[in-house]
Amino acid sequence: MQPTYSIIAPIYNELQNLPVLYDRICEVMEKTGEPWELVLVDDGSRDGSTGVIHQLAERDPRVRPVIFARNFGHQIAVTAGLDFSRGQAVAIIDADLQDPPEVILEMIARWKEGNQVVYGVRVEREGETWFKKTTAALFYRLIYRITEVNIPLDSGDFRLLDRKVVDVMKKMRERHRFLRGMSSWVGFSQVGVPYRRAARFAGETHYPFRKMLRLALNAVTSFSYFPLQVATYMGFISAGIAIVAIPIVVVLRLAVGYSIFGGQATTLIAVLFLGGVQLISLGILGEYIGRVYDEVKGRPLYITSEEPQPDQDLNP
Ligand code: UDP
Ligand code: MG
Repeated sequence: MQPTYSIIAPIYNELQNLPVLYDRICEVMEKTGEPWELVLVDDGSRDGSTGVIHQLAERDPRVRPVIFARNFGHQIAVTAGLDFSRGQAVAIIDADLQDPPEVILEMIARWKEGNQVVYGVRVEREGETWFKKTTAALFYRLIYRITEVNIPLDSGDFRLLDRKVVDVMKKMRERHRFLRGMSSWVGFSQVGVPYRRAARFAGETHYPFRKMLRLALNAVTSFSYFPLQVATYMGFISAGIAIVAIPIVVVLRLAVGYSIFGGQATTLIAVLFLGGVQLISLGILGEYIGRVYDEVKGRPLYITSEEPQPDQDLNP
């Protein structure tokens, strides 16, 4: 029997959260009265989470483990979950219980009303640093402004997708992934469900500033050429200033004998400024070219050391 619902949880060193996650998901999903499966994607955990996933899968055939050969990152882990999910509606949830599983029921209700993408909107975030909240809020607003896809504000990867959307997303094999952008990009009927993001149940975040910056860069480069255009604007602005300034300086010097820009300091500043602008533009170009190079190599998105059986039955 094929499940109606799939729940995907990416797992990276979530030893203490796993049993609680499993219990809470069971409790919530029992209420639907329909068959469901839990796809646990182990993203190269090193704290023994893999063993717990195996135990859960042995006890409960509804748990389907996908085990990665190494750590590939959160977005790739969720992608693998989508690849192996079989449900008619697929929910993505963090393993640390920051996204309350109970909200899935609300999402299912909105899905049954005919919405194909039901995304969670964080109206409140508990237990997160002031820094994370501010940078996240700024980031969502920046992305909203510079991309053509209208990625909803303050929505993370906690969402429920219809099978149609999942099938489209499975065909999008880009390497540098920003899933919430991709699931907005596909279109269909989308709706938000507000929820309060709780604090982590146990453990520490696996998204340090470095990884957040990576994700932000992926989001910008995957959905916008804006940074490339900035270089063009800067070029026009400095060329414009030069065109206006050159005749003024020459005329003043010849007619009045007055020199506005005297000394080496001005020359030095101008050279440093333009050098800086040029290097930044090169760096931006480099970011895009590096991404093109990664895509061209065409390597698999992830490598699994263990995959679930395609015909695994929910009721043996
Ligand atoms: N995660 C993952 N691979 C990673 C980092 C994180 O699969 O390389 C998982 C992690 O186990 C959790 C989810 O992604 O289920 C969200 O991570 P985390 O809670 O650390 O991020 P935050 O909520 O702090 O943004
Ligand atoms: Mg978290």
